[in-house]
Amino acid sequence: MSASLQLDLSLYPEPVLRRTARPVEAFDQELARFVAAMFECMRRSQGVGLAAPQVGDGRRILVIEAGGADGALALINPEIVGRGGPQSVFEEGCLSFPGIYAEIRRPERCRVRARDVRGEAFEAEYDGFTSRVIQHEHDHLEGVLLVDRMSPGDKLRNKGALEELVEGYRKARERAAREGSSAPAAVEER
Ligand SMILES: [Zn+2]
Repeated sequence: MSASLQLDLSLYPEPVLRRTARPVEAFDQELARFVAAMFECMRRSQGVGLAAPQVGDGRRILVIEAGGADGALALINPEIVGRGGPQSVFEEGCLSFPGIYAEIRRPERCRVRARDVRGEAFEAEYDGFTSRVIQHEHDHLEGVLLVDRMSPGDKLRNKGALEELVEGYRKARERAAREGSSAPAAVEER
């Protein structure tokens, strides 16, 4: 196997996080390598889930490792075809919002239709923490972010940290423009 691909996290408010992701069409070697690199990035960042837009890629790919019996899941072109059970509130974080946490209300169960990395279709039902992580990551494919689901109180409590992220992004853009680099633009194109 060739040298592994190293992926970097896209942080709020990078524009790629706001786009609707597009379906994967090719279930090939490139996809397998990319999914392996997503798992590596998620584990390195001590996350329990990661969506492709969070590493600057606009495809509908999720990797999840929420512990428990479900193990490591790669969901390609996932659709949430049903949600059920009681609504529960749980504190969520997000690798694109370092240091920011918010109590988010979601239904406890979800039913997912997806393909695996080889293109094999499957359907499964998840509950508890795995279901929550899947629903959070699936939001990323629609450009929906933690900040959109926060209560006004959590938004206020995280105001400083959110402003710092926006400021960090603005500075990175300025730095790139000064250096004549197109790096942030390249990230958006991917
Ligand atoms: Zn997230």
